[in-house]
Amino acid sequence: MFCPFCKSLDIRKVFGDILKCEKCGITFLDFEKYSGRTDNIYDEEYFRGKVYYDYFREMSVRIKVFKDKLQLIQEYLPRMGRVLDLGCAMGFFLKVMKERNYEVYGVEVSKYAAGYAKNSLNLNVHEGDLQSADFHDEFFDIITMWDVLEHLSNPQETLIEIKRILTGNGVLIIETLNIGSLTARILKKNWPLYFPPYHLFYFSLKALKNVLAETGFSVIKIIPIQTYLKTRQGFKVFKYFKNPILRKVLGAFLNDVICCLAIKSIRGS
Ligand SMILES: [Zn+2]
Repeated sequence: MFCPFCKSLDIRKVFGDILKCEKCGITFLDFEKYSGRTDNIYDEEYFRGKVYYDYFREMSVRIKVFKDKLQLIQEYLPRMGRVLDLGCAMGFFLKVMKERNYEVYGVEVSKYAAGYAKNSLNLNVHEGDLQSADFHDEFFDIITMWDVLEHLSNPQETLIEIKRILTGNGVLIIETLNIGSLTARILKKNWPLYFPPYHLFYFSLKALKNVLAETGFSVIKIIPIQTYLKTRQGFKVFKYFKNPILRKVLGAFLNDVICCLAIKSIRGS
């Protein structure tokens, strides 16, 4: 087993089937153990019953959560322009952004979810991975990945492609789990976000900043998020600290999810 990022053989076990590269610090699922088990896993079952109780029925709650998230970050976002939601699922975030007069695009590997976004919400969604969408250079003003980075089999490659299609003043928003959080450290295998074979990469804040720097991004804002330790059981308990003081104080300990805003760095293009 070698590191999928730097190819180092200096690997140690963290907990469960999670491995860490001692050289570059990236934490990842033992892919060899799950080979062949990650194909076509984002089917209808994934959204209805297997992983989510019923993603579609949660639409109104999910839209509210996206609106809450936007409130926390809107001062950093361009007021208009093109938005790409990578891993857009059924397109709920795009629906919110479209109502705010952005020009919206989605990319989604799940045929089931992409089909819903296209046919029922009438959104411009490409079914497949980001590379196959083949967008023009510097096409998007905002690119979002809500709980998607940890699902990708090659996050580095995806970030490099994002850099190509993001405008010079564009903002990249990544929400992903935080394996460096106190919750993850205490709960280990029982941490709800330890979730093979769906979650393949487990970033800490430091590792996330490193991979962003290496792929040509600078972090401008980090917003800590906690999930009340119950993500899988029920989406409704997934909450942000709305009070800014609580967000700062408790977030430092319980931030098992990170929302990270980044821009293209001037160097390393
Ligand atoms: Zn490595």
